[in-house]
Amino acid sequence: MTKNNLNPLVPKRQPDRQAEVDTLFASMGEGVITTDAFGKISRVNPVAQRILGYTEEELLGEWFPKKIVAFSMSGERMSVMSRPITRIFISGKPVSEKLYYLNKSGERIPISITASPILVKNKPVGAIGVFRDITLEQEVDRMKSEFISLASHQLRTPLSAIKTYTHMLAEGYMGALNRDQKASLQTIISASNRMNELISTLLNVTRIESGSISVVLKTVNLDSVIREVLPELLLMAEVKQISVSLETKESLRNRIRTDPLIVKEIITNLVGNAIKYTPKKGEVRIAIQPRSQDILIEIHDSGWGIPAASQDQIFSKFFRGQNIVKRETTGTGLGLYLVKSLIDILGGRIWFTSEETVGTSFFFTLPRNKRLKTATKFVDRIKQ
Ligand code: ADP
Repeated sequence: MTKNNLNPLVPKRQPDRQAEVDTLFASMGEGVITTDAFGKISRVNPVAQRILGYTEEELLGEWFPKKIVAFSMSGERMSVMSRPITRIFISGKPVSEKLYYLNKSGERIPISITASPILVKNKPVGAIGVFRDITLEQEVDRMKSEFISLASHQLRTPLSAIKTYTHMLAEGYMGALNRDQKASLQTIISASNRMNELISTLLNVTRIESGSISVVLKTVNLDSVIREVLPELLLMAEVKQISVSLETKESLRNRIRTDPLIVKEIITNLVGNAIKYTPKKGEVRIAIQPRSQDILIEIHDSGWGIPAASQDQIFSKFFRGQNIVKRETTGTGLGLYLVKSLIDILGGRIWFTSEETVGTSFFFTLPRNKRLKTATKFVDRIKQ
């Protein structure tokens, strides 16, 4: 029996056409594995064999999720149901993901994979996974994060000196100032505050990416945690005459075990965005809804909204909406990436609904009783 006869997915073709398809498959620069409708490996190209360390004979006919063990990027072994190849059989839609494959020698290889269903007359008859080894990319990413972390730390020191001396000048310790001098100092102070926030965001992103955010769990009342960050946000809202309300009913049921400092960072980012991306005289509403297993928090605004075409990119690093860039020049596109990562750490979920020019609602959940994962490193506390 030839290799192709093993494969029910490969239709009978003219011999020269078949040879051409085989050559194309073998020459692809990415790893490719196809399976039948039961997840059994039906084809595997040389790059896939090289990445996984198995020969074609060792892979063909094997049940893919069992033969090739996968781990999520956070290091947990993936169940059969969570594997991309299983998910596409359920949803019928392609899945792109980063994960680790265990190769034949037991090493974890970081992989970026896109798995798609093979459809014949709209029915899935198998799956195709196209993947590549991203070890090098991860290393470059790590070096980039290390550089940003180092640069941000170095920037902090001169900035502290600028802040201290401008405050001393503004307070009149070095002599009385006239109105113009005071106004100029206020501009310097607010610019250095913005720079400080930017450096904090950069440092927090590098901490998340290196897995060195510390989580300190406490039993707290969510209302009080939110009220602690409100004054600073209200100042921002006042300038634009935006009303900010906090809707909460049963405060006793709002007690949860979580990390209050991380929750404050999340709220500051989401409410800060709601105020920033809402025109003057608009409205921002924060609502807390206790549920049996978790607490649902909604942050609603009557702002410019997120264009439908870019809604799937909203949590990506450096993303900024086209409608926003035109109006609001300051921003890094890192806030929501940070927020999503922090909510993941706390065991919650985030999603949103938005309509351009009408408004946006961000929703997130916090589990009532967050338990620490032993695999997480708790080294450094997030800085406010
Ligand atoms: P930044 O605010 O620094 O640009 P974020 O990651 O916090 O970065 O947000 C990314 C983008 O998402 C924003 O630039 C904006 O286009 C969009 N966005 C976030 N929140 C809202 C909101 N409440 N309303 C409209 N657009 C928003």
